[in-house]
Amino acid sequence: MTSTIQTLPTEVVYLITAGEVIDSFAAVVRELVENSLDAGATRIVISLWPQHWKVRVADNGCGMNWDDLQQAVIAHSTSKIYVSEDLWKITSLGFRGEALHSLATLADLEILSRPMGEYEGWQVFYNDAGEIIEQKVAAIAPGTVVTVNNLFANCPARRQGLPNSNQQMKAVQLIIQQIALCHPQITFQVWQNDKQWFTICPAASVGKLIPQILTQIKPGDLKEEVLEIPDSESKITLVIGLPDRCHRHRPDWVKIAINGRMIKCPELEQTIFSVFHKTLPRDRYPVCFLHLTVSPDQINWNRNPSKTEIYLHEVEYWQEKVTEAINQSIRISEANIKESIHTSRVSDLLKVAESKGSYNFKSTTENNQNQSYLTAVAQVNKMYIVAEHPGGIWLIEQHIAHERVLYERLCDNWKILPVETPIILYQLSPNQVEQLQRINLDIEPFGEQLWAVRNIPEMLKNREDIAEALLELSWGGDLQTAQVALACRSAIRNGTPMTLPEMQQLLNDWQNTRNPRTCPHGRPIYLSLEESSLSRFFRRHWVIGKSHGI
Ligand code: ADP
Ligand code: MG
Repeated sequence: MTSTIQTLPTEVVYLITAGEVIDSFAAVVRELVENSLDAGATRIVISLWPQHWKVRVADNGCGMNWDDLQQAVIAHSTSKIYVSEDLWKITSLGFRGEALHSLATLADLEILSRPMGEYEGWQVFYNDAGEIIEQKVAAIAPGTVVTVNNLFANCPARRQGLPNSNQQMKAVQLIIQQIALCHPQITFQVWQNDKQWFTICPAASVGKLIPQILTQIKPGDLKEEVLEIPDSESKITLVIGLPDRCHRHRPDWVKIAINGRMIKCPELEQTIFSVFHKTLPRDRYPVCFLHLTVSPDQINWNRNPSKTEIYLHEVEYWQEKVTEAINQSIRISEANIKESIHTSRVSDLLKVAESKGSYNFKSTTENNQNQSYLTAVAQVNKMYIVAEHPGGIWLIEQHIAHERVLYERLCDNWKILPVETPIILYQLSPNQVEQLQRINLDIEPFGEQLWAVRNIPEMLKNREDIAEALLELSWGGDLQTAQVALACRSAIRNGTPMTLPEMQQLLNDWQNTRNPRTCPHGRPIYLSLEESSLSRFFRRHWVIGKSHGI
C-alpha cells in the first residue's frame, strides 16, 4: 500500500506563506474541519472540552491508510499539491501540509482512521516531531477521528495570552458557522463537555441555511441569486436580506467567501455597503452573504497564513458583477413578485404617518416602454395605491414610492439650472452658505444679511417654495443627503388625490427603480398580500360542507 501524501520540495515551501496557523481553539477546529471537508466528508462531529484543552473532530471522509498515517504528520506533508505550479490549481482548502505537524508539536495528537473500502482502521499516537510512538488496529467506521489533547501544554505563555474559555467557544461557534455557510450541504454536530451544544443541518442552498444561524430571520426575508458567468467556471452565489425586511444595527453581517472559504475582501465589502446605501434606515447595515466561485488560477492564497486574506485578480470586474447581482435581487420582477408578507410588518407599515399638503403630481414619463407587473386599481385614503397582479394585491404608499423615483432620477442627473430672477435668502450662517456652495449653487452676498442664489436644482424649477427648499438644503450633509431631502420635498404628498392613469404612471416608474423596496430613508414602500396568504386567511381550503356544519 502506498500513500499519496508527500513532503513538499523545499522550493515550494519557500513560496508558501509561513507562520503559525494554530494559535487558538478556533484555529484547531478550522484546520481539522477543513481537512475533513477536503476528505469529502458529509458529516462532521466536533467535540470540545475547553477545560482539558481538548478537541476532537470525527468525519465520514475518505480516511487514511497505513502509509498515509506514517506520512501525514511530517512537516510540509500533503496530498493536495506536489509541485510549485500546483499553487495555481488549488481546489482544496488545505495545501501547506502544516496543520497536523503543528498540532503534533503543540499538543498530544492521536489519529484514528479507516479508509473507505478497507476492513479495519488504525489508531496512531504521534510525538512532537510527528513520528509514530504507538499504533494499534482499531475497529471504526470508515472515516477519520483526530483528537488533540493538552493543547499548548508546552507553551504556557500561549495559553495565558488567550481569552477566557467562553470567548474562545464563541470564536469556535463563529468559525463553524462560517464554514457551514460556505458548505451548506454538510451536517455539523457540535458537542461541548460531552453535551450536545449545537447542530447545523444540511440545506439545499446557503439561503435556506442562514435562518439556522440568524435565528431571527425568516426564509422570506432573504433573496438568493446564483449568477453563472458565461464562458467560464465562475459563478456568484448571493444571499441578501431584503432591505424592507431585515437589517442589522452593526456592520457585522456582510460576509464574503471565495471557493469554499470565508475571506476578508475590503474592496468587495465596500461595494456591498455602497449598493445598499440609501435603501436602509439610518445607521442600519445590510445582511449579505456573497460566495464567489472562480477558477483557482485567479486566486493567490498566500497573502497571510490563515488564508483569510487573498489576492484576487480583476477585483473591479467582480465589484461590477456583485453590484449587478445585488441590484437584480432587490428589483421587483416577475420572479420575485410573489412574496409572502409577515403580519408584524402590517402594523409597522400602518404606523407611518405623513403630514398633508397640496401637491400636484406630474409624471415625467421616460420609462413608459418598461414592463409593468402591477395594475393600479384604486386609491385609498388619498395615501395608498391599491394595485393588483395575478398573484395578489399590493398596497403602495404614494409619497414614498414617488420619493424613491425622484431620488434615483436626481442621482442619475443632478442638474443645476440658472434662474432669471435670483432667489433671495435671509440670515444665513457661514455654514449654510458653504453648504449651498458645496452642492454647486452660485451664492453671493446681496446686502445686509441677504444672499442671492443664481442657480437652482432643476427639480425646483416650477415651484413656489424654492427659497424654503434652498434653506432646507443649506442645513448640511453631503450632496446625497441634499438629494434625499429634495426628493422628499418634491414627492407627491399623502393626502393628494390621484387619478388612475397618474397612479399607473407612478407604479410603472417605481417598479423600474433600482431599489424599489425602501425609500431613501429606509422605510418600506409596499405591503404585499399574496393570493396564497389570502386564501389561507379566508380558509379557502375548507370543504364547503364541513365549514357550514353539514
Ligand atoms: P494539508 O491539509 O495542508 O494537506 P494537513 O497537515 O492538514 O495538511 O494534513 C496533511 C495530510 O493529511 C492531508 O494532505 C491529507 O492527505 C491527510 N489528512 C488530514 N486530515 C485528514 C482527514 N480528516 N481525512 C483524510 N485525510 C486527512
Ligand atoms: Mg489541512
